[in-house]
Formats: sequence, structure tokens, C-alpha cells
Amino acid sequence: MTRWRRVQQPLVLMDQLGWFIRLRWGAGAAVIAAAILDGVYLRWYGPWVAMLAIGLCILAYNAFFWLVTPRQENQAPQRRMLSLAYLQVALDLLCLTLLTLWTGGSASPLLGFYVFHMVFASLLLTDRVAYAIAAAAGATLAGGLVLTGQFPVQATERAVLAGWGVMLLATVYLANHITRGLHRHRRRIQRQRDRIRIMGDRIRRQQQGMIQQEKVAAIGQLAAGVAHEISNPLACIDSMLQLLQRRGGNVSDEAFVNMREQVARITQTVQQLIHFAHPSAGERQTVPANQIVQRALQIIRFDPRLRKIDLVLTPAQEDLSVRVQPRAMEQVLINLILNALDAVAETPQPRLEVRTRREGERCVVDIIDNGHGIRPEHLGRLFEPFFTTKPVGKGTGLGLAISYSIIQSMGGTVSVESEPGKGTQFTVSLPAGQDEPGHDHSQE
Ligand code: ADP
Ligand code: MG
Repeated sequence: MTRWRRVQQPLVLMDQLGWFIRLRWGAGAAVIAAAILDGVYLRWYGPWVAMLAIGLCILAYNAFFWLVTPRQENQAPQRRMLSLAYLQVALDLLCLTLLTLWTGGSASPLLGFYVFHMVFASLLLTDRVAYAIAAAAGATLAGGLVLTGQFPVQATERAVLAGWGVMLLATVYLANHITRGLHRHRRRIQRQRDRIRIMGDRIRRQQQGMIQQEKVAAIGQLAAGVAHEISNPLACIDSMLQLLQRRGGNVSDEAFVNMREQVARITQTVQQLIHFAHPSAGERQTVPANQIVQRALQIIRFDPRLRKIDLVLTPAQEDLSVRVQPRAMEQVLINLILNALDAVAETPQPRLEVRTRREGERCVVDIIDNGHGIRPEHLGRLFEPFFTTKPVGKGTGLGLAISYSIIQSMGGTVSVESEPGKGTQFTVSLPAGQDEPGHDHSQE
């Protein structure tokens, strides 16, 4: 039952209504032109003034429909669209019948236009209504012919008229057949689109989950360093408190200043961790490229391995801004630097260089290490999710996959060059941003 109803109720589409309105401008203008031509020059048919009036009427009601037809599909309730369609079909039928009667009745050159009319009705309305309109068109014309005394007398002329009636019904049948197929096709496409949208949402959610998972993994890797970073100032505060206790509350201002500095260090560490662990990637902003690198290194400094390597920072000399989601970009750099730290673990004189530079309209960040490098057969698989050469529990294989999708979503690219045994260079290229005047980056 539901299925039958669905087939019986074609959607009145806005583009169909819009298309008919555009056609009707032409039809109205043609009627006016033909009426004037007949009145002034040809004089074939009598009531040219009435025909002119009909042409003007067509333009007038078309202007009305043009104004009231919603322009966007979501503003268009089906019932309103259907009533608009009914009204248009009825008015067109009335005008066409009058024009046909005034231009020769059953011998009118306009008789063929009923076929167009039936196609419109079939496209806009349900098939039963379209058949009813075909019957109404036949009856109205026959009634008009009788009333104006033009109904054919000869049997052969009547047969032509009957054939015309059959043609109208056949047109409705064919047009319905075609439109039903089109509607079915449209619904199928719509369903597929909905499915793709739902799948896209699911993938985005899963990707968000993966990004967060990788962050947690990075924080886990840095946990020892964080603990160290917090326990040092705590030990310092503790020894000052012991001193305070021994001296019976008599402590210099300097000691208080010192203790507050230690508390500030802990607060800063905790804030940086909270900033990094925050699940949202944030809005895209124009930020100095070197600031992103600094923020990433603030987090990385928790890794004790950083102290044992030769870290070289080569910042761009000019003010170089980049248009990114800063948090997400920091995570990309952290992933790349943690990989480099893993790679140089066995290198006698480990070295890591982070370089920012401009390349035309792009801002480029290079992360270069002298670690174990990447085997050529692995190069093509690096950005695949879960590809890792690290032992279980150490590598997730998600760092580069996530970094790749983050960089891509910001309109950037990432490439890698590596020589086994010598080292690796990751190059991230991003759209350089125009610095917004008065923008305070320190608040981000
Ligand atoms: P994970 O670090 O969890 O293994 P990634 O996606 O971050 O996952 O990296 C995938 C693989 O790429 C690593 O297992 C490693 O083999 C290789 N790789 C990434 N960066 C480097 C690098 N700087 N030097 C050598 N190998 C690297
Ligand atoms: Mg990694």
C-alpha cells in the first residue's frame, strides 16, 4: 500500500515548476506577438484583441507564480507545491481552450499544444489526476466546440477529433511511465546520498576517535617526562616548606617568590597538557609558523630523550604565517618529532632539525633526523593506518595516517625522503596565511 502510494505521488519538484514558468514567459509572449500579427497584418482569425488579452493574462499569472514559487527545496512544503501545480495546469488549460476555439476549433493550429499540456500535467501531478485532466481537456474543448457551433459535422472530422482525444490519453500514459522511472531513479539516488552522508559522519567520528587515541598514546609516551617536570618543582617547594618549619615561620620574601615560581612551573606544565589533550581541533586561524613549532616543542620537551640529542631550530627569517587549525597542526609536528626521536634512538650522535621556510605561497616545515631511515619498500605504506615497524605496545601505526589526513584537510601536503642508515626528512607544506592586523596570537 505504501509503495503504491509513493509511486502515485510524484514529488513536485521546484526545478520542474521553475522550468514551466520559464517556458510560459515564452508562450505568453508568442500569443501576444501572434495576436498582434493577426490583428495588424494577417487577419486570419477574428478576435485578436481577446487573444492579446489572453497573452497578457498568461504573463500576469505567470508573474504571480514566479513570485510565490519557493526558490529552495527545503522551503517548499509538498502540499503548497501541489496546489500551485494544480492552479497552473487549470489556468493553462482554460487559456489554451479559449485560444483553440478562437483559431478554428477542431482545425486550430493550437490543437497540438494539448500534448505539451498533458506532458506538464503528468510531470507535475499524480497519474490519476493527469488522466482526469486529459479527460477534462477533451470535455472542455468538446463543450466549447458545441457551444460555439464549431463541433465537426462530418464523420471523418469527428474521427480526427476522437484520434486527438486518444493521443492525449496516450501522451499521459507515456509521460507517466517516463516520469515514474525518473522519480524512482531520483529516490534511489537520494537514498544512496543519505547513506553516503551517514557513512561520512561515521568515518569522521571514527577519525576523531583515532586522533584522540593517538594523542593519548603520545601523552603516555611523555608521561615519565611530565612526572619529572612536576616532581622537580614539588621537591623544591617541599624543601622550602621544611626550611619554613625549621625556622618557625620565619622565611625571607625571596623564598616565597621562589616557591611561587615553582607553582607557576607546575601550572604551566598542566596547562600545556590540557591544551594538547583537548579533543577539539579548533577553528582555522592565521598563526606564525614558528609559534606552532614552539608549542609542539613545549610538549615534546617532556620527553627525556630530547635532552640527549642535538636539536637544531632553523626558523624562517621573515614573519611567516600559516593558515591552520593550530592544535591539530601541533599534533602533527609532535607525531613527526616523536617518530624522529624513535628513529635516532640507536644513532651515536643523534641530531634533529626543525626548519620553517617560505616557498612561494606556501609555508614549509621540514623535520630532519639522522636516524635509521626508512626501507624503500616501506616508503609507500607509511601513511596507511596501522602500518608500524615498531614492536607491539610501542607503535600504533596511526601517527602518520592521522597527520596525513589533518594536513590534507588544511589544504596541505606531506612528503618524505629517506636514506636507510642515514636519516629521514619529512616535509609539510601548508598554505601561507595573510597576517590579520591586530590579531593577538598569544591568546590562542
Ligand atoms: P608509529 O610511530 O606508531 O609506528 P607512525 O604512523 O607514526 O606509527 O609511523 C609509521 C612508521 O613509519 C613507523 O613505524 C616507522 O617505521 C616509520 N617512520 C616514521 N617516521 C620515521 C622516521 N623519522 N624515521 C624512520 N622511520 C620512520
Ligand atoms: Mg608515530
